[in-house]
Amino acid sequence: MNHFEQLGLAPALLQAIEKMGFEKPTPIQEASIPVLLDTGRDVLGLAQTGTGKTAAFGLPLLQLLQTENKHTQALVVCPTRELCNQISRDLSAFSSFMPGIEIAAVYGGSSMDKQIQSLRRGAQIIVATPGRLMDLMSRRAVKLEQVSMVVLDEADEMLNMGFEEDVEHILSFTPAGKRVCLFSATMPPEIRRIAKKYMTDPLEVAVGKENAGNENIEHEYAVVNSRDKYAALKRVLDYTGDHFYGIIFCTTKMETQDISDKLIKDGYNADCLHGDLSQQQREKVMNRFRHKAVRIMLATDVAARGIDVSGLTHVIHYHLPDAIENYTHRSGRTARAGRTGISFTLLNVREAYRLKEIEKKANIRFKRIQIPAAREVLDRKLLTFTQTIASQDVDESMFSQEHFDNMEVLMAMDKGEIIKKILSLELKRFAADYLNAPDLNAGDKAAASVEQADGSSTRIFVSVGKKDGFETMNFKDWVAEVSGVKKKFLHVYVKGVYSFVDASAADVPALLETLNKQEVDGRVVRAEVTARAADQGERKFKGKSRGNFGQDREREGGWKKQPWSGGKKSSGSGNFSGKRDFAQTGFKKKKY
Ligand code: AMP
Repeated sequence: MNHFEQLGLAPALLQAIEKMGFEKPTPIQEASIPVLLDTGRDVLGLAQTGTGKTAAFGLPLLQLLQTENKHTQALVVCPTRELCNQISRDLSAFSSFMPGIEIAAVYGGSSMDKQIQSLRRGAQIIVATPGRLMDLMSRRAVKLEQVSMVVLDEADEMLNMGFEEDVEHILSFTPAGKRVCLFSATMPPEIRRIAKKYMTDPLEVAVGKENAGNENIEHEYAVVNSRDKYAALKRVLDYTGDHFYGIIFCTTKMETQDISDKLIKDGYNADCLHGDLSQQQREKVMNRFRHKAVRIMLATDVAARGIDVSGLTHVIHYHLPDAIENYTHRSGRTARAGRTGISFTLLNVREAYRLKEIEKKANIRFKRIQIPAAREVLDRKLLTFTQTIASQDVDESMFSQEHFDNMEVLMAMDKGEIIKKILSLELKRFAADYLNAPDLNAGDKAAASVEQADGSSTRIFVSVGKKDGFETMNFKDWVAEVSGVKKKFLHVYVKGVYSFVDASAADVPALLETLNKQEVDGRVVRAEVTARAADQGERKFKGKSRGNFGQDREREGGWKKQPWSGGKKSSGSGNFSGKRDFAQTGFKKKKY
């Protein structure tokens, strides 16, 4: 006997539950189902989407229906058309082994005539948005006299959307002895008032505390300047890579559309959902997102109410929401069904004070993270690329003799040289975005701007310094000689075991390309674009002896530690010693 059977559900429903793969009831199902089935009490549920509340009211609702009676017996009222569709889809799935059940979904933005027709066929269950239901009631297309159960789903959101009067009007047209279930993510006084007025001695079920953060969600933020928000968003998406499947919350429809357009233009697999889309467009977008054909969804709070998708890895707050409830509501889109997820905020300095408020009221803790440096993103991209190559299955039958003949060119090459060429090809794809990319963290950037008044050059870290016999003059000579970049365009800072070269963006590719081919005292030189923070070099690399530069740096997190925990998961499996190996592969270096 499984847990669902213990709740008193009928065999047809148990069969459907099994088919849907639900193994055991969620807490809200465990609490609500027996009460709704046996006691005839009303249920007041404090629960968000993702807790299994649809089944919590849907399964008893179906079981209590008189299938032979074709009149409307159950009414589910919810705020958005997406939610309406989703609830009726869920109810259809739960009733797949119950013949003779008709469910009508009625909502605005869709043909009224078609909805009237489906109601005329006799729907025992109506799932409706308040506005459209009111219209249909005024046309006498719905009859509510035989309704024995009313469900108000996402009641707080219906109130936020201004449907309070409509909801009360609808309730007043239903019979006195009906059962009422009310679900809400929050419990403001207006909801309490409605509950008091329309419900009888309801059983109160709270899934977790009000607004309590789901423990499986990591709440993170990074502080960026407003003008860098979009770049920071892209960097985070790039760093997370294909692993990303999430919603980016924007404040306005315009912003939603705007960022979605920009992302698409920049080659990301994104789309958006907001109130200005037609019903057809919204359904198309939702389907593509549900099937992961689109992995990045831009949405406003209201539009996102209808998004019921499991397995989201991230929720990104492009701006913090005005209402704290919305923060928890947004975050609750990820980390469903026991999975983990990240709720990440791109924070303006001006918004910083709001974090504390959210922490306190939502009972969560935020962790500050750094927007990954450009180099980290490139490293990550190369790591993924290398892993993809390594895990490729090779089907030799795909190759023709001609292919093999052509491969001779590659066969004749040094292995390291081939690897380098392949990786360069991949790197070039991102070079435009990343070779000259600044640090996007607001704090560091401010520090850097103090040091670099002109701010227009790019800083390159080079792994040789005074210990290798360099001083400012001979170092500049050497850099100019190997790179072909004129000395007057270079500013150099020679430190103990490393140096910096500041150069204009245009010269960076040549500098990197040539410096990375050098050897000094038999040691491979490494050059890379670095963040501009004044103390960065000192803080990260102080005291490294030249002999074990690479290794120490890796071990001590020379790259900022865990910049973006979306990456934590895969970095565990990745052993990208490529950075080191690459330098030690023994490419032929010009001897200095
Ligand atoms: P809801 O809170 O009703 O929107 O449900 C959130 C998601 O959880 C939906 O995709 C449901 O199909 C799924 N779900 C509901 N109940 C269970 C359960 N007992 N076991 C596993 N998944 C469930």
